[in-house]
Amino acid sequence: QKFGLNELREKYLSFFESKGHLRLPSFSLVPENDPSVLLINAGMTPLKPYFTGQKIPPSRRVTTCQKCIRTPDIDNVGKTSRHATFFEMLGNFSFGDYFKKEAITWAWEFFTEVLGIPEERLYVSVYFEDDEAFDIWNKVVGLPKEKIFRMGKEDNFWEHGTGPCGPCSEIYFDRGKDKGCGKETCTVGCDCDRFIEVWNLVFSQFDRQEDGTYLPLKQKNIDTGMGLERLACVVQGVDNIFEVDTVRTVLDHVCRIAGVRYGEDYKKDVSIRVITDHIRGSSMLVSDGVLPSNEGRGYVLRRLIRRAARHGRLLGIKDAFLSELAETVINVSMGAYPHMDEKRDYIKKVISIEEEKFYNTIDQGMNILEEYVDELKRQGSDTISGSMVFKLHDTYGFPVDLTREIAQEHSMKIDENGFHEEMRKQKEKAREARLKKENSAWEKDLFSGGYKSVVTEFTGYNEYETEATV
Ligand code: ATP
Ligand code: MG
Ligand code: MG
Ligand code: MG
Repeated sequence: QKFGLNELREKYLSFFESKGHLRLPSFSLVPENDPSVLLINAGMTPLKPYFTGQKIPPSRRVTTCQKCIRTPDIDNVGKTSRHATFFEMLGNFSFGDYFKKEAITWAWEFFTEVLGIPEERLYVSVYFEDDEAFDIWNKVVGLPKEKIFRMGKEDNFWEHGTGPCGPCSEIYFDRGKDKGCGKETCTVGCDCDRFIEVWNLVFSQFDRQEDGTYLPLKQKNIDTGMGLERLACVVQGVDNIFEVDTVRTVLDHVCRIAGVRYGEDYKKDVSIRVITDHIRGSSMLVSDGVLPSNEGRGYVLRRLIRRAARHGRLLGIKDAFLSELAETVINVSMGAYPHMDEKRDYIKKVISIEEEKFYNTIDQGMNILEEYVDELKRQGSDTISGSMVFKLHDTYGFPVDLTREIAQEHSMKIDENGFHEEMRKQKEKAREARLKKENSAWEKDLFSGGYKSVVTEFTGYNEYETEATV
């Protein structure tokens, strides 16, 4: 039973359709009317108004496969077997309809009956006070008590920003001793990659306010989330989420371009996985209307593209390569996301413009930084000055996170305050300059203009960029 990623997506969605759910297409990565998140980071995020009762859902049972971006996970990408910045999240949702019992028993049915996952491999956790969930797992499903772990708020209370949240129950898959850290204490909840968290069932009962307090929701809801790549990873028995069939196609393309073999050198493998992840995320972001810039969503995209470009350099890739890779991402994704095929040329163009821009300065910037780091080492200092970080950012296009990362690779840090001071000074200057200009329409989020206008305005890209730093 080696299901492909696309097949697993379909199996999940049709399973929940058979349980009376309405299947909705993925929402855009760009949130609508939700200032609490920059990008959609979970299946439930675009559905928040249905949970709070603000909006009437088209059905009280909904199932989706949602594109997600989680930038906070970026440092883990390529290093753990389970984290990507871009991934797809499968979910089934109840808006004041069914609750814990159905959510739990259907999850079990899907795993053991639809996918045929052996029971011995599965473990679960519940919120430490949640006896109800514990009893459903134990008495209704029949899972032995030793396989049900009670965990605290950090692990088993789900919330992201404001809005619907609640205690949760997670399902883990045991990938076997050889995938683990080997410590005697290693068990469910260990940070290593043996017991991998696959599915999170959230019993969404509270509404988190701006001030951090919790109000009970009018209705009890279910919000579940399962990483499609993680599911495919355990079902296909591969080592990590980048080796899953469709993702592996992208990874293999990276290797072909770089002329390196995967699985021979840990550092190179990390770079290969980072590029694989970032080109997926970048292609998706562009297809949803985001453009590279120095702030907000645009900055996330810029950071992904430039970070991928740098890892390309680390692998010895000399020429621009990301738009060619985007082509492969589009090919493996367009079955589920047809708009990617329609926007093929546009996606490639945006990515290659951004990459070219960085390539014009990356080598110079790297050389300057390396020399500077050597000099600091000679002096016995471990901090890259604010003005250097600023110069790399301003003249050589190094996003500050990238410089920080390179510093860390040399066991150094950057002078964050000094850098912010330089940025502040520059903003002040730019503001003065801007007051003299009449047309500042570029300041508005470009996304609101839609994709067509963006293409026609492309000649204004340079101008936009200077404005966006303001
Ligand atoms: P982890 O503890 O492994 O970081 P999480 O608890 O942060 O995961 P949730 O917020 O519960 O994840 O999201 C629901 C599901 O989405 C997870 O169970 C997992 O399958 C998937 N998922 C979460 N983060 C990622 C990621 N960075 N890459 C791929 N899949 C992810
Ligand atoms: Mg996480
Ligand atoms: Mg977790
Ligand atoms: Mg979780």
